Amino acid sequence: MANQYSKWTKEDLIKKIYTLEEQLKKELDSNNDSFLVEFPWAGNLGQWYWLYNQNKVVFNDKKVSQLGYDPVVVGEVGFEFFTEKLHPDDYENVMQNMRDHLTGKTKAYEVEYRIRHKDGHYLWYYDRGTITKRDSSGKPLMLQGIVFDISESKKIELELIQLSERDTLTHAYNRRLLFIKLDDLIKLKVHETTPFALIMFDIDHFKKINDRYGHLVGDDVLVTLTKLIMDDKRSSDLIYRYGGEEFFLVLPNTDIKGAVKTAQRLHQLISKLFIPKVGHISVSMGVVEYQSQETIDDVIKRVDDLMYQAKKAGRNQIKS
Ligand code: GH3
Ligand code: MG
Ligand code: MG
Repeated sequence: MANQYSKWTKEDLIKKIYTLEEQLKKELDSNNDSFLVEFPWAGNLGQWYWLYNQNKVVFNDKKVSQLGYDPVVVGEVGFEFFTEKLHPDDYENVMQNMRDHLTGKTKAYEVEYRIRHKDGHYLWYYDRGTITKRDSSGKPLMLQGIVFDISESKKIELELIQLSERDTLTHAYNRRLLFIKLDDLIKLKVHETTPFALIMFDIDHFKKINDRYGHLVGDDVLVTLTKLIMDDKRSSDLIYRYGGEEFFLVLPNTDIKGAVKTAQRLHQLISKLFIPKVGHISVSMGVVEYQSQETIDDVIKRVDDLMYQAKKAGRNQIKS
């Protein structure tokens, strides 16, 4: 497509860029803020210049209009105008990243964070900057950066992570994640400071439910059961769908006594659950505390054997 640049040769463009760079350098030296933000080919969202010793942030219009504010009304702002809008869960990470850069630990400040739009919803930004001017003693005078709205690609990224980590039917973590979690816990020798435990359970006679009411009703049972456990469990406990109707719970900071108590509570809760069309269900459970030196296979085999014993002993019970 023809545009205003198409008639330029490569040499013209290079010359133009050099001229612009020269001009920028001159303007930076004279501290003429308005020029700084008028750079015309600066990406899809914004550039910022933080005059560090004056705490004045200079930015192009889009950096605030994208957040729902009128740049004219907003006028001149400090660093806090943006930082106070950060998502509480991202705030410390952003600050730490900036501190690391200002104290010379990193070459650039580079973070992704959520920032609040005037309407209250959050946008995802990618922000990268660096100190570009220092005083004679090396103290920062100016930082320059670029910021991009990455909300769309972040949404896709988060969906892909969700797809790779969670079972699509129940939204419990999948089997792959269970192995990753156990690998982490074992490698870090977590049990040497705090014990951790595993509960494995399997729905009793699940095949009959499928045979009698159909596969879709069977699916509903899996979803309802998982939701019940997700709503009840401690936030640090993790639930995984290991196979068809087999689940694992990883209980950090829990010894065998605590794990058995948790299993008993869950067993009770599940027995009281009423599922439309199906009625009540039961589960068989195995419970173990991780023992020093065990591999992932060892500990899974131990809990699987216990669960199998619970099945053999008549189902609807817990073995530990
Ligand atoms: P037991 O008490 O010994 O565990 O008997 P069971 O019938 O529960 O055990 P079995 O392993 O024979 O059957 C498990 C069934 O789970 C068989 C399979 O068709 C069904 N299943 C596995 N995944 C799903 C699923 O995603 N949805 C539904 N509806 N059924 C599933
Ligand atoms: Mg079963
Ligand atoms: Mg099974």
